[in-house]
Amino acid sequence: MPASIPGIHHVTCITGDVQKCVDFYVSVLGLRFVKKSINQDLPDTYHIYFADNIGTPGTVMTFFGWPTWPKRRTGSGQVTSVSFAVPPDALDYWSNRLRKVGVETSRTSRFDSDAVVLRDPDGIELQLVGHAKDDRWIPGPDAPVDKDYAIRGFHSATLTVAETAGTIDLLTNTMGFRSAAKEGNRTRFETGSGGPHSIVDVVESPEGPVGEESIGTVHHVAWRTPDDSAQVGWRDLLVKTGRNVTPVIDRWYFKSIYFREPGGVLFEIATDGPGFTVDEPVEKLGTTLSLPPWFQVRREHLDQILTPIVVPTTAARGAGH
Ligand code: ZN
Repeated sequence: MPASIPGIHHVTCITGDVQKCVDFYVSVLGLRFVKKSINQDLPDTYHIYFADNIGTPGTVMTFFGWPTWPKRRTGSGQVTSVSFAVPPDALDYWSNRLRKVGVETSRTSRFDSDAVVLRDPDGIELQLVGHAKDDRWIPGPDAPVDKDYAIRGFHSATLTVAETAGTIDLLTNTMGFRSAAKEGNRTRFETGSGGPHSIVDVVESPEGPVGEESIGTVHHVAWRTPDDSAQVGWRDLLVKTGRNVTPVIDRWYFKSIYFREPGGVLFEIATDGPGFTVDEPVEKLGTTLSLPPWFQVRREHLDQILTPIVVPTTAARGAGH
């Protein structure tokens, strides 16, 4: 087996309104807008990335901007909730902060942690889990959220599947995850050294609706792998176990392979490098339309058709803090 998966690399969702999405993730949640690029498979559309100051794997929330897509439903075969880690004493701060900007929240308690539950502007369920023992997050110099309470990257992703057996078999017998806890129809798995960003919850929902790839849903979750050779190792292993895996695709900021797990959720395995500073210095991340070299010929066309994005500055961020 290749070296174990350390945890989540990024989570990619579908937004119907790129500007609202940017306003929310930057001004309200306090993530940095680290990359403005295009969807390489639908290159007339945006692919935008939010993360810590440099786009550290495990902190990267990304969106395809597909305004003409329908808004349908979340359900089985999808990631149905994305959790970020925050310090355990930050939950009241976040409830207040979100209320001030008109975002409804509730509280939940799962396994050993409490969380604030909310929905982003497209309706994607997010949780802020009080469980931040994680030093991967590199804060930005002008983040709008008090640094004592700020998001520290991903805590976990929740997969909802109609039947868990195949999903659990893949996670534990092929991908190296280990079962960590069970609560009702929810089973928690961990990989790597455990803790925030290494957790995936699998929820069994045999009766629930099947999710549809649409605005307000998570498109896929990407798992980390350190380098190209480990990625090829994963590809070989997955093919051997019967998964239908794409070839290695160069995404410029990382290399990727994709496959569906048996419950229907789209998985990616992405390399940690070269990362988001491959074409912009840290202080300039997200300020220009970044295109892989093979898409540069389309720049003029893209400049004409893509609606400009305004990234909120510190002065405009407000949100009460
Ligand atoms: Zn991806």
